[in-house]
Amino acid sequence: MGLSLQSVKKRYPDFEIDVSFDVESGTLATLLGPSGCGKTTTLHIVAGFIRPDGGRILLDGVRVDDVPPHERMAGLVFQDYALFPNMSVSGNIGFGLRMQGWPKERADRRVFELLELVRLSGYGGRSVTSLSGGEQQRVALARALAPEPKILLLDEPLSALDANLRKSLRGEIRRIQRELSVTTVYVTHDQEEAFAISDRIAVMNDGRLEQSGTPQEIYNDPETLFVAQFVGLTNTIRGTIAGKKGPLFEIDSPLGRFKARSHRLFDGKRDVVLIFRPERVTLGPKKKDWNVFQGEVARCEYLGDSTLLDLNAKGTGFTVKITGEALCATGETVLIGFSPDDCTILKASG
Ligand code: ATP
Repeated sequence: MGLSLQSVKKRYPDFEIDVSFDVESGTLATLLGPSGCGKTTTLHIVAGFIRPDGGRILLDGVRVDDVPPHERMAGLVFQDYALFPNMSVSGNIGFGLRMQGWPKERADRRVFELLELVRLSGYGGRSVTSLSGGEQQRVALARALAPEPKILLLDEPLSALDANLRKSLRGEIRRIQRELSVTTVYVTHDQEEAFAISDRIAVMNDGRLEQSGTPQEIYNDPETLFVAQFVGLTNTIRGTIAGKKGPLFEIDSPLGRFKARSHRLFDGKRDVVLIFRPERVTLGPKKKDWNVFQGEVARCEYLGDSTLLDLNAKGTGFTVKITGEALCATGETVLIGFSPDDCTILKASG
């Protein structure tokens, strides 16, 4: 059953949250959004630290709105580890077990298991202050998991670590989450991290959920302009629906007429935004039935495995990513092409 947030609201003088989303049992869902969009507040509402002003929170099908934090069976991991500096690694991991009155022998066994799980076997007796940042975060994860929580809540757990460590530890978190099948909510503002570890991503903006879906849905079929622009680079062309021919919508724009396939319905001559990703573009001769327009190369960056080009077409900027080396130079005029199947149409207001 997992977690269900139903119209959960929190009002502050200058900010308001109103969110609904479900996390299936045993899966990892990420709350992704820019700083200040309400991710931490939402997580703290789930944990029970913040009381919502409205809505319902269900954990494994049971309403927990009035259940105090320590009875919600949530394991928490914070950005700054929040370990007890005067305790050993084992002391930290076993803390929740002692609080819950586990018999010593069973608690010791559990701590031993957790040390193995987070690959810190042999570290039990060490002081946590002697550990590296990555090791401290493993201890924090083990401490959160020790009492067998119903739900694991992670708030930007990797943001204090350097880039390489972030990558390896996010893989570890995913491995452990899958091994234990623990329902998990992960908060981050880092889209790569969200894509790398999530079963589902909920994109938040200004206290609201913009879209919830698998990483593939979020990237390939964004429902709003905010989502399209927040996750990865994107190109946009503003235009108006001119009609529909077979399965394809036709869109008139200052750059010409374009065709696009869409599962969304658009009535009349609605203003729309056509969206396509830089890596879905080809340069050069027109491919049959593809959309094509002319642009001038403003900048060309060879990155080894790919080339990133900034192009200008009638005053609008575009980004194109070509695998390998692109044979063109600054100032050159090129044909920019993309398939009607590789773009998304959104209402201009969206
Ligand atoms: P970050 O990634 O920077 O941590 P966030 O997405 O987690 O951001 P929150 O920390 O949830 O965002 O904050 C959302 C908004 O709610 C912010 O504008 C913040 O100022 C406001 N806010 C949070 N707590 C309070 C409070 N106790 N009183 C008033 N406003 C608050």
